[in-house]
Formats: sequence, C-alpha cells, structure tokens
Amino acid sequence: MHARESITAFGTKLLLAVALLLSPVCSWAQPPISTVLSNGPTGKRINIVFLSEGYTADELEQFRRDATNTANSLLTVAPFDGYRGYFNAYAIAVASVESGSDHPSTGIARNTYFKSTYESYGTAQLLTIPPNNRDSSYANGQGKVTALLNQFMPEWDVVVLVVNDTEYGGAGGQFMTVSKHASAPEIARHELGHSFAGLGDEYSTPYPGYPNSEEPNTTRETNRNAVKWKAWIDPETPVPTPAGSTTAASVGLFEGAHYNATGWYRPKNSCKMRTLGTTYCEVCQETLVKSIYSRIGTIQGQAPTSLLANLVAASSRSFQVETPAPQDRSLKVRWTFNGTQLTNTTTNLLIGAAQLAVGTNTIRVDVTDDTTMVRSDPSDYLHDSQTWKVVVAPGAQLRLLAPTLLGDGRMVFNVSGRAPSGFQIQASANFATWTNLVSSGPLDGSITLTNPLLPGSLVGFRTIATQ
Ligand SMILES: [Zn+2]
Repeated sequence: MHARESITAFGTKLLLAVALLLSPVCSWAQPPISTVLSNGPTGKRINIVFLSEGYTADELEQFRRDATNTANSLLTVAPFDGYRGYFNAYAIAVASVESGSDHPSTGIARNTYFKSTYESYGTAQLLTIPPNNRDSSYANGQGKVTALLNQFMPEWDVVVLVVNDTEYGGAGGQFMTVSKHASAPEIARHELGHSFAGLGDEYSTPYPGYPNSEEPNTTRETNRNAVKWKAWIDPETPVPTPAGSTTAASVGLFEGAHYNATGWYRPKNSCKMRTLGTTYCEVCQETLVKSIYSRIGTIQGQAPTSLLANLVAASSRSFQVETPAPQDRSLKVRWTFNGTQLTNTTTNLLIGAAQLAVGTNTIRVDVTDDTTMVRSDPSDYLHDSQTWKVVVAPGAQLRLLAPTLLGDGRMVFNVSGRAPSGFQIQASANFATWTNLVSSGPLDGSITLTNPLLPGSLVGFRTIATQ
C-alpha cells in the first residue's frame, strides 16, 4: 500500500513536470500561422508571409496586429493598390525570450528568435539576421526562417520579418526586415521594391565597394535609344536630364543613383527608391507590375482542361478561362475561332454545333492586362494564351440539334444529315465514356427522337453513324 502511494505521488510530479514543459506551447491560443489577408488559393495568389522577431509570447497578439497593419500599408500604394486582390498574407508567430533587437554600439543584446541586429556591416539602420557580419551561422537566422516557411507556407513569395523595436531600420533581400519605427510602413515599401522586384537604390550617397550591377531602375547608359526605360522618356526631355522644376514630373535620365553621385542615372528626380514619402516612379511601378505577373498568370485555369477534345458529333461546346482581376477593371479577353477574332470579350465562350466544321477546329483565348503602367514587356509577363483543338471526325455528317428537355424527364433530339446504315445517339457524363441512349435506322434528312429514360448528370450528347 505504501509503495503504491509512492508511485502515484511520483507519477503526479512527472505529469506536472511534463505539463510545465509543454505550457509555453499550450499557451498559444492559435497555431503559429494565421491568415492576415485571403484572396484565393495559395497556388493562385502572391503569398506574403510575416514572421515575428523580438516579440515575447505575451506580445504575439500585438505581432498579428502589426502584421495586418503592415500588409495593409504595403497594399495601399500604387501599383499594389490596384492589385490588392492578387495577394494573400499570413503571419507566423514565434516567441522570443526578450523583446526588441540588438544594438551593438550601445551594448544592447536581446535574446530573440532570429537573432536580429541593427548596425549590420557598419550601417546604423541596417537590420539583419544571420548570416551577417556579426554571426556567420545560417542556422541561427535565415535557416530558422526557411524551416518555418517549409513547414507552414512553402508557397511563399514575399517574406517580411517584423522586428519589435522602435529604432529606425530595415533591410531588403530574400527575407526583408522592418522595424516598428514611425517610418516603418515607408521603409517596408522601399524594401519591398528590392525584395519583390529587384529594384535598386536610387541614392547618390557613396557606398564604397557596392556591386556595379545595374538594376531595372539604375543605369550607366546615356544614349537615349539604349536606355532601358526609353519608352517612358518623351522626345522633348533632354538626356541626361537636368534636375529642376521643369523636369520634376518627367521621366528622363537623372544623374545620381546606385550609391554614386556621378556616372549612374535614375529615371525620375524623386522616387520611393530614393526618398521615403514619395511615390514609386513610373519605371519602378512598371517593374513592380511585371514582377506581379512574373508570379501570377493572366490565365489561372481553363475548362475543358485538356487541350485536345475529340468530338465526333456536332454538339455545342463551352470554353472557359479563369483570370485574376485588378481592383478597378477586368483583364482584356480576346477569343479567336479558326483564326477569326470573335466579338466575345467575356471569360466564357459557347461554340454552337453548326460552327464546328469536320476536321480540326482551333479555339484560342488571349488574356492581357493592358494597364498603362506598363509600356515595355519583352518577356510578355502581362499576357497568356490558351489553345484548344476540337477535332470533328470525318463522316460525322450527322447534326444533333440542342436537345430539348420534356417536363417528364425525357428528352427530345432532332437529328439531321445522312446515315445510310442508321445511327445512335450517345450520352456522356464526362466526355470520356459514352452510353447509347437511342438507336435509329437509316436517315437521309431529319428525324425527331424521344428517349425513354434519361440517366442523371449528363453533360454531352453525340450521334454516331453506324458503319
Ligand atoms: Zn524609381
């Protein structure tokens, strides 16, 4: 009896110990990942993932609010505002032991989940996670980000670490960081230009040793016809372009960019990639829109899904595409049937039985975003097409008019054409397997047939001449 009590007491202590060990996990009111903004399936949207850095367990609710505010602030400026519906956003909340981030010059070191630090590489506001100049271990910083993304959101497109520190700072790169300084929304938009679209800094201030590679918005080229954003430069704008009140609104070639006061050029006198609080210039906006469409197609689905539909009967067929939609307009849809452009501009097309000729019929749809924000798109990011080939077999001279449903569930078929040995009307639920509904003797002209019993959920009917 005594021994039994001892075992029980030990067991209780063990359970308590286990419960204490588990309590930090159990105290999460929700799983680490939560949805901030949902506009569609992850496979069809651009997925922004926010991660918490320097938030203690008690501060994770605040992190989720900060992530929501950051998502909204990123998507309220052009060009993102017009494409808000193209984005999803998620928050992955992981707790740090301490709040904030490291400030090495003042001796402040915080025990945080991703080991972020200000003053990276000698620049006060450069806020990074390892590997960096202070900690070369990938596993201490970016490795943890990668592990969380693999576990919770492998379809990530943009990653933002929200650092719970009010000091001014941030960084671009594959995993961008933003702090909670009052300028954080603007810093985040600027860093997004780097991370999302590979835009360069349009700063004139020197940064010795900075790589010499040009970005979409920086160049050393001064020949007007060779400047990569020449589509935006009006003929009357001088190249290079002197800064001043007359050229303030112009796109041209302004000296001072890419951390060089001379010899490097930017598209506009002011731009968010040069000065916080201003808009992205036209060239940066164009690059951002193309970056959106490099991740998301103008066609996101189609029906039928197969490219080759074999039809032996002249029954009507419908074709459909799924497209994303900007906030204020639809994408431009053009249908072409056997080489002729149709007037239909919707996402659905019905080709009537009479239109389908014996042989191969080609149905093509082109979907384009004709936004004025993009003038040059050599990679054709803003356009997709889809082609179906519908083969109507030779000898299928029988024509089946659209069946009429009777009130009692039976169906009336009108068939015209020539079938010297007779024919059958067949039905299918999937266009793959066909079942006989009605058989008929020889035909030369037209005939009306009523089937006795109609099976459920049929999608297509065809006539087959008896050989
Ligand atoms: Zn710019």
